[in-house]
Amino acid sequence: MNSRRISKPVRIGKVTVGGGGPIVVQSMTNTDTRDVAATINQIRELEEHDCELVRVAVPDMEAARAIAQIKPAISIPLIADIHFDYRLALAALEAGCDGLRLNPGNIGEPEKVKAIVKLARERGVPIRIGVNAASLPRSADPRLPVAQRMVDTALKQIQLLESLDFDLIKVSLKAFDVPTTVEAYRDIAAKIPYPLHIGVTEAGPPKSGVIRSAVGIGTLLYMGIGDTIRVSLTAHPREEVIAGYEILKSLNLRQHGPVLVSCPSCGRTEVDIVRLAEQVEAELAKISKPIKVAVMGCVVNGPGEARDADVGIACGKGRGVLFKRGEKIRVVEEKDLVKALMKEVEEL
Ligand code: SF4
Repeated sequence: MNSRRISKPVRIGKVTVGGGGPIVVQSMTNTDTRDVAATINQIRELEEHDCELVRVAVPDMEAARAIAQIKPAISIPLIADIHFDYRLALAALEAGCDGLRLNPGNIGEPEKVKAIVKLARERGVPIRIGVNAASLPRSADPRLPVAQRMVDTALKQIQLLESLDFDLIKVSLKAFDVPTTVEAYRDIAAKIPYPLHIGVTEAGPPKSGVIRSAVGIGTLLYMGIGDTIRVSLTAHPREEVIAGYEILKSLNLRQHGPVLVSCPSCGRTEVDIVRLAEQVEAELAKISKPIKVAVMGCVVNGPGEARDADVGIACGKGRGVLFKRGEKIRVVEEKDLVKALMKEVEEL
């Protein structure tokens, strides 16, 4: 894995993005922001899943003003997502948002961006320049490859912000196409000092979207690129947060709750390993300790993985051997395995 690109740290409320700090997991609500109660409830649920930054859509003035009511009821920083109308950005800033996301392709004249920057600077609020391949400005040269057009668009906006003496900048360059996304980020990572928000946009429903996101985000993280991630899924946003941590955990970039090692099962399996693993996964979802748990189907790799985990079981015919911190503890009947395993997990 490449060493991490160290970007210029930017603070969004109480959370620092970049500077080599932990890679921040964020999501976006899918409630109507004007429905203050529903939006607060969803953000609180995201907080329970350790979401660290949340973005809300601001489609109109009522939504912008709702931020003033939402903010005091939540504990993670809130980013306002603005399209088309710069006045919505001004209203969101007035309402106390901690960050702004602007799509330079649709805000319009530099004068409008200038007005936003002036107020953001006064309030110390960072701006993410969020370029999306599907909404590049008309000024981008259509003869150039999409990734290059995305980078050029972002650089132009960065220059505009810098010319206004503003450097509280984050950048994202998202496309649905993974190679385009990776290429765009790789290019811009070498050209600017700012932190990068990475993700694959409109990745799809959970099954395909998690894979697409994991390939795109994972490739970039492996290259050392990325300071905050959003897994964009057509699903409840809690799924985005869960997937985000799984991606980071799989690259050993963050610890978050348990890791479950379970074998895929095969013709050698003599217990219902699929059901066992599902039951253990459901139980582990209630645990926040960063531990490794193994549920293995037979003696081929079972004892090795189970020994290597904090707690593990290696199953045989209708029973399993329970391991804890590398030591064999006892043999347990299949019907008691989940209970016995979870008892050991709780005692760790
Ligand atoms: S651990 Fe055993 S049961 Fe599980 S996949 Fe490997 S060989 Fe099959």
